[in-house]
Amino acid sequence: MTARNIDGNALSAKVREELAQRAAELTALGVQPCLAVILVGEDPASAVYVRNKVAGCEKAGFRSLKFTYPADVAPDVVFAKIAELNADASVHGILVQLPLPKQFDADKVLEAISPEKDVDGFHAENFGLLLQGRKSFYPCTPWGVMKMLESENVQVKGAEAVVIGRSNIVGKPMAVMLLSKGATVTICHSQTKDLAFHTKRADIVVVAIGKAKFLKGDMVKPGAVVIDVGMNRDENGKLCGDVDFDSAREVAALITPVPGGVGPMTITMLLANTVESAERALNAQGESK
Ligand code: NAP
Repeated sequence: MTARNIDGNALSAKVREELAQRAAELTALGVQPCLAVILVGEDPASAVYVRNKVAGCEKAGFRSLKFTYPADVAPDVVFAKIAELNADASVHGILVQLPLPKQFDADKVLEAISPEKDVDGFHAENFGLLLQGRKSFYPCTPWGVMKMLESENVQVKGAEAVVIGRSNIVGKPMAVMLLSKGATVTICHSQTKDLAFHTKRADIVVVAIGKAKFLKGDMVKPGAVVIDVGMNRDENGKLCGDVDFDSAREVAALITPVPGGVGPMTITMLLANTVESAERALNAQGESK
């Protein structure tokens, strides 16, 4: 069997068209969606991510604000900017690009963002709501994965799902989202004893570990859906995922490529959260009148 690719670029383009439409309607009503991005330091990968986020906003008709600080900035300066943006009614989403330099406590920074503007979905309040199955801003990467599964009509209810990686931004929320859609979920990580035992019985396997070409075809159940969240450089400096694409695609039924898979969906869902936040702001204006 050779797996079919799930095309993240094509799905992204379709979803972004719908978002641009919603943004235009909001703008016509006087509420243009606005995302504020804070970048600290000179990490080249972070600079690229921020550039893509800003470009995504502009293409969809959003307003975007970008604040950059040198790597040695005092945390208070960034906290003051977050407070200012929290108080600015024209800003609907605030994002602090991770990782942050050593002098920052990233958890404290993320929690300084108002949960109503936490369009990355990283605030503890939003994560708690997600855990309870209540409305929140969903973390963008796992939400993008759920959209990809939905677009391919993948049966999640009753499926055996294995998530490799237990980070707060990908692995854990991914597992919760699959669970809430009725999958039986196993979370694996660096201490898991026999990883292949788990992956070989998974109908859906999501890999988010940051290890180039880690999941090989012989660890995949025939006919499985393989989702590759990883973004790494291979030995030739070429972008690659956590899945050994060539061997896994010979066994799986559906697979996400890197690049062109989960990556574009992450920014798309960031835009979706920002539109949602702007819609909530508009509704709140209506209620207060
Ligand atoms: P992270 O915080 O470093 O977490 C990595 C996780 O992988 C940890 O839970 C770790 O286990 C686990 N792990 C590491 N080595 C392992 C191994 N050999 N076997 C099993 N588990 C292992 O990473 P992250 O932020 O979740 O990101 C993961 C990857 O996704 C990275 O490549 C990142 O660049 C990529 N990413 C992509 C997007 C996108 O838009 N496509 C978005 C976010 C992240 P322990 O907890 O036991 O240490």
